[in-house]
Amino acid sequence: MTPPDDTTPPEAAAADLVGIGFGPSNAALAIAFEETAPHTAGEPRSRMAFFERQPAFGWHRGMLIEGATMQVSFLKDLATMRNPMSRYTFMQYLKTKDRVAEFINSKTLFPLRVEFHDYLDWVARQFDPVVTYGAEVVALRPVTVDGVVAHLDVEARVTGDDGEHTVVRRARNVAVGTGLTPRMPDGIQESRRVWHSSRLMDRAATIGDAPRRLVVIGAGQSAAEATDYLHRTFPTAEVHSVFSRYGYSVADDSPFVNGIFDPKAVGAFYGAAPEVKRQLLGYHENTNYSVVDLELAESLYRTSYQERVLGQQRLWIRNMSRVVAAAEHADGVRVTVKELATGTSEVIEADAVVCATGYAPSDPLPLLQDVVGECKRDDEGRLVLGRDYRVATSDAVRCGIYVHGAGSEHSHGLAAGLLSNTAVRSGEIVDSILSVLAR
Ligand SMILES: Cc1cc2nc3c(=O)[nH]c(=O)nc-3n(C[C@H](O)[C@H](O)[C@H](O)COP(=O)(O)OP(=O)(O)OC[C@H]3O[C@@H](n4cnc5c(N)ncnc54)[C@H](O)[C@@H]3O)c2cc1C
Repeated sequence: MTPPDDTTPPEAAAADLVGIGFGPSNAALAIAFEETAPHTAGEPRSRMAFFERQPAFGWHRGMLIEGATMQVSFLKDLATMRNPMSRYTFMQYLKTKDRVAEFINSKTLFPLRVEFHDYLDWVARQFDPVVTYGAEVVALRPVTVDGVVAHLDVEARVTGDDGEHTVVRRARNVAVGTGLTPRMPDGIQESRRVWHSSRLMDRAATIGDAPRRLVVIGAGQSAAEATDYLHRTFPTAEVHSVFSRYGYSVADDSPFVNGIFDPKAVGAFYGAAPEVKRQLLGYHENTNYSVVDLELAESLYRTSYQERVLGQQRLWIRNMSRVVAAAEHADGVRVTVKELATGTSEVIEADAVVCATGYAPSDPLPLLQDVVGECKRDDEGRLVLGRDYRVATSDAVRCGIYVHGAGSEHSHGLAAGLLSNTAVRSGEIVDSILSVLAR
C-alpha cells in the first residue's frame, strides 16, 4: 500500500457511494441507492456520484443492430425484480413513451435491443446530475485516518470541449462496474479494416457501399449477428464466417436451465466449493458463451442453403477453420484461413475482418493498485469477494470496495455478467453499504 495520503483535495465532501462506470450495473445501483437510502443523512442523490468514460450513455452501441432482440426478459430490467413499484422499470418507460398497449400486443418478453437501449438511456438521463461523462477513472488513492484507509479518492481524467482535466471525488464506498473489455484473437490487432465486433456498426459505415468480401471470425451470438448484418447490409458482398466448431451451437434458454440466473442460484453458487463452481460454469456455459439463438442459426442456415440452390453463394460458412493471419494492405486484408481437419490453408482477400471473439471482464486490479496489498486474493490471483460483492480486505481498510458485473462471475456465477440479476444484486450491495454506514 502506498503511504497515507490525506492531502489530495476532494472536490466535495466524501460521498457515500462513488461508482466507476455507468453501464446497467451501476445504473441499477444508483436506482437502488436512491430508493433505499434513508433521507436522514440528506438526499440520497447528493451522496452518490458516478464516472463514465464514454462521452454519453451507451450500452454496446456498436452492436445495436436493427432487428436484434434482447436475450433476457424485459422484466429483468434495472429495477423490477427488486422493486416492481420503482419509477425506473421498463413498464414505466413504456408508459412515458405511450407504448404500453402496443408492446403488449407484440406478445414478447424480449424487446428489440434498440428499444432496451432507449430504456437504459431514459434511466441514465434521469441520473444526469450525478454522472460525469467523458470521465475515465485512472486511480483510487487511499486516504488514511487513524491508521486505517477510511476513504478512497477516486481520480478521473475528464475529457470535454475545453480539453482534459482531473477530477477527484472522495468516497466512503466505491462500486467498480466496469463491465467487459473486447478480446481480439491471438496475433491479430485492430486496424482500419480489422475490427472487434463491439465497433461493428460504426466501422461498417466506413467501408463504402460495395465491399466484395468480408470475413467474420467467431461462432457466438455476436458473430452470427455480424454475419447476418453484413450479409443483409451489403447485398453484393460475399460474407465468410470462420470458426473452429463444426456448426453454430445453440443457446440453452430452457426453463430449468434458465434458473441458473435466478437470485437464489447466486447464493447457491457462491456457497459452493471451487470444484463445484467450476463444474457449474462448465455445465451451463452454453447459456451464454459461444452460442447463438436458435432462430438466428436457422435463418443463416436457410440463407446459405437457398443460395446454394440458386447457385449464387454469398454466405460461406467456413467451419472447422481458423484465421491464422490477417495482414492489412492498401486495398484490403489478406486473411489466411487454416482448415483444421486437413491442415491446409487458403487466402481470402477481404475488404474487412470482424473479430467477434468475445470479451474478457475488465480487470479491476490496475485501478486498485494503491490498496491491492490489503485486498485478499484467491489461488488464481482474483479478488476475494463477499456474498455482498464487497472486496475482502485486511483490517487496514475500512471503506467499502465493491466489484459487480462480469468481474464477479468467478465467485457469484453466470448471472454476474448479464442483466438477469442486476436489480436484485444492486439491492444487496446497497443493503451492505447502508449497514456499514450505519455502524
Ligand atoms: C452486444 C451485447 C449484447 C448483450 N445483450 C445482452 C442481453 O440481451 N441480455 C443480457 O443479460 N446481457 C447482455 N449482454 C451482456 C452485458 O454484459 C450486459 O448486458 C451489461 O452490459 C452489463 O452491464 P455492466 O454495467 O456490468 O457493464 P457494461 O455495460 O460494459 O458497462 C460498463 C461501463 O463502464 C465504463 N467504464 C469501464 N472502465 C471505466 C473507467 N476506468 N472509468 C470510467 N468508466 C469506465 C464503460 O465505458 C461502460 O460504459 C450483452 C453484451 C453484449 C456485448
